[in-house]
Amino acid sequence: MTSFRDLPNPHADSLKNLQLKVGDYEIHAVPTGLFGLDGGAMFGTVPKVLWEKSNPSDSANRIAMEARALLLKSPTHRILIDCGIGGDFIAKYGDKLGAKFEEMYAIDRGATSLEGSLKRLGLTTDDITHVIFTHLHFDHAGAATKAENGKVVPTFKNAKHFVQRANLETARHPNRREKASYFGVNFEAVIANHQMEILDGPVKDLLPGVSVAITNGHTIGQQYVRISDGKNTVYYCGDLIPTSSHVRLPWVMGYDLRPLELIEEKAVLLEQAAQESAYLFFEHDPYLDLVNVIADRGDFAVRDRFRLT
Ligand SMILES: [Zn+2]
Repeated sequence: MTSFRDLPNPHADSLKNLQLKVGDYEIHAVPTGLFGLDGGAMFGTVPKVLWEKSNPSDSANRIAMEARALLLKSPTHRILIDCGIGGDFIAKYGDKLGAKFEEMYAIDRGATSLEGSLKRLGLTTDDITHVIFTHLHFDHAGAATKAENGKVVPTFKNAKHFVQRANLETARHPNRREKASYFGVNFEAVIANHQMEILDGPVKDLLPGVSVAITNGHTIGQQYVRISDGKNTVYYCGDLIPTSSHVRLPWVMGYDLRPLELIEEKAVLLEQAAQESAYLFFEHDPYLDLVNVIADRGDFAVRDRFRLT
């Protein structure tokens, strides 16, 4: 038996270290913990002989996945984009589903956590001023609430949170397929506590230098985030491009609701990123934080791979 946790990083030799500032913001990766997912589900119709080179799988066919938030830190703002799966599974989801979560996602409590990663940056969850949700799937928004004295409460008690209305609607009334990914317990307490601002469509300068745009291929009303000062630009791709392996246009997840629409949306973002020499930040890539991309014979390819320092 091998575990996805013990597999070597196939990009180890090509990773470059990067210290990045965009405008007033220091850009920091906030890994919240590795989990495992079925490799086939992550790559849809792409055969294993192709994906296993960049994403080796363990004896249960699981590949490593990160749940990586992004922190924008300025003297006035500490903005978190997505926040990971969180914990308190039994308390939040109930005995049966909570135990299933523990087992299915093989979460390692001893390893990286949201709180631990913030602590390394000198912060606690109370210091976060804003949380932008790309969408409310549990692996992106689960940590937004926690169990406290038998109640579920917001984790970031001083933060204003943002979500798209279309995504909130779909999260509250999920289709049969997404029922296993949207849980009110992860976000209703934020709304009840008047900490959620609900957005209707793309917003330019939602926060200084931070804009959001909408895509619907992965799930309805997902937003990706653009952070730019005119010189450096970073995109937080969410599940539009979950890992650097998904830069190739036909490499889409089995989880995506509308794969053909997603490919078109991805092409728009990649074209823009290639032209701007922008950085793409990946939420789920276990091996790196960001890349830049080039156009490549009608498709796109990774140029450089980076780890934020
Ligand atoms: Zn998702």
